[in-house]
Amino acid sequence: MSSKRNITIIGGGLAGPLLACLLAENGNTVTIIERRGDPRALGYEGGRSINLALSARGLQALDRIGIKQAVLDTVVPMFGRMMHDEQRRTVYSPYSHVADEAINSVSRGRLNCMVLDSAESMAGVTLAFNATCTDIDIESGTVRYDDEHGCSQVLEADLIVGADGAGSIVRQAMDAIVPIDEGTDFISSGYKELTIPAADDGSHRLERHALHIWPRGHYMMIALPNSDGSFTCTCFWPMEGPESFSAVESPDSIRDFFAVHFPDAVPLMPDLVREYTENPVGPLGTVRCRRYHHGSTAVLIGDAAHAIVPFFGQGMNAAFQDCLRLAESIGGHDDLHDALVDYDRTQRPDGDAIGALSLTNFIEMRDKTASSTFLLLQRVRKQLGLWFPNLLMPRYNLVSFTTIPYARVLRIEARQRILIPAIALGVIACIALPILWALDVI
Ligand SMILES: Cc1cc2nc3c(=O)[nH]c(=O)nc-3n(C[C@H](O)[C@H](O)[C@H](O)COP(=O)(O)OP(=O)(O)OC[C@H]3O[C@@H](n4cnc5c(N)ncnc54)[C@H](O)[C@@H]3O)c2cc1C
Repeated sequence: MSSKRNITIIGGGLAGPLLACLLAENGNTVTIIERRGDPRALGYEGGRSINLALSARGLQALDRIGIKQAVLDTVVPMFGRMMHDEQRRTVYSPYSHVADEAINSVSRGRLNCMVLDSAESMAGVTLAFNATCTDIDIESGTVRYDDEHGCSQVLEADLIVGADGAGSIVRQAMDAIVPIDEGTDFISSGYKELTIPAADDGSHRLERHALHIWPRGHYMMIALPNSDGSFTCTCFWPMEGPESFSAVESPDSIRDFFAVHFPDAVPLMPDLVREYTENPVGPLGTVRCRRYHHGSTAVLIGDAAHAIVPFFGQGMNAAFQDCLRLAESIGGHDDLHDALVDYDRTQRPDGDAIGALSLTNFIEMRDKTASSTFLLLQRVRKQLGLWFPNLLMPRYNLVSFTTIPYARVLRIEARQRILIPAIALGVIACIALPILWALDVI
């Protein structure tokens, strides 16, 4: 059993408070430093996606801190993808053959408030809002921050946790001592959020229990349902080029572009031009990091360690899985250095794997979900998966509906690439050979 530590977490977003709950449960003293105001008092200030897909890994962690059911009570389950083509036709494809298997659209702001409430209710947890970490001495465990009055404060800790997102100041401080930061690989697409408001009677204007996708080759739009009847749409488009954010800027070009490429969405978006013009374009990239800890004094979780492109809906889920593993490692080792080495050994391959899987899914959602060959292959895979559920579970389901480590998912998928054609051939042979034999052909 481990001794009790004094731990400072930089970042009170999604992962920081969840980790605080787990660490406080083991008797550690935890302080969270968060540069934004308290979202429970102010209303959520986040400028990024306002709903997120929550799946098995995230739910497992929420279960551990006792709020899984409370969170599930607020979500909209999405049981499949609804594809929209340029002729306004739709095709629905369920995620799973298991009836109640769904990913869940959850409000980022509400979830953030719920994990903060949980952290605050734990003995030994202190939350500091409007507190911006400005300087870190990694070796001594010293954190400097500007408090809500602009006064500089100092905290000493046994361990500093970087839960401070993709631009992590903790990662930078670690990298300044021993280079670990391999940089951020930005993709050429960015994202912009738009809204489909609820109908006058408060209902959803599109199928409520689906993730909607308008795949258009090198660009796409998706929409996730909110519990208030609205949808949050996200355009994932190239930054530059003929069909890109830079090409679609004027009110006329916005109206024309949407009318041609997303014709069924336009009547549902009364504020399209204003929202498109006012809402920012966010960059998308993968953070690559050679090590998740420095000695026994600093460690990274979530986006600070492995920000990923959001096409598998796994960033938060992966961050929550980090929290479980880190708390387990700290709880299971007397020596903090051993604990952090253990965490790095198990989590870093998974961070790398989900980064790679998310990039693959970007190509799949953007380029392939509109292809009838792809949809047919998906159906074949799904059917084989039905016949051999343990052997041939599809990649999406392994990622979203299990907690199997991401690195193992990659290995399973590599095996399946060999197995599926072999099994498909076997099945065809089993059907064709008796027929040919009965017809006296062989
Ligand atoms: C468009 C988009 C869609 C997404 N969709 C999904 C999805 O469907 N499902 C999913 O699982 N994930 C999704 N993600 C990813 C998800 O948002 C992140 O992986 C998740 O927020 C990571 O949590 P975190 O706690 O590590 O970081 P964050 O949520 O970014 O929190 C970091 C916190 O640190 C604070 N901070 C930063 N610097 C300092 C400082 N110097 N001092 C004090 N505080 C500081 C910030 O204010 C912030 O509150 C999406 C991301 C994007 C961009």
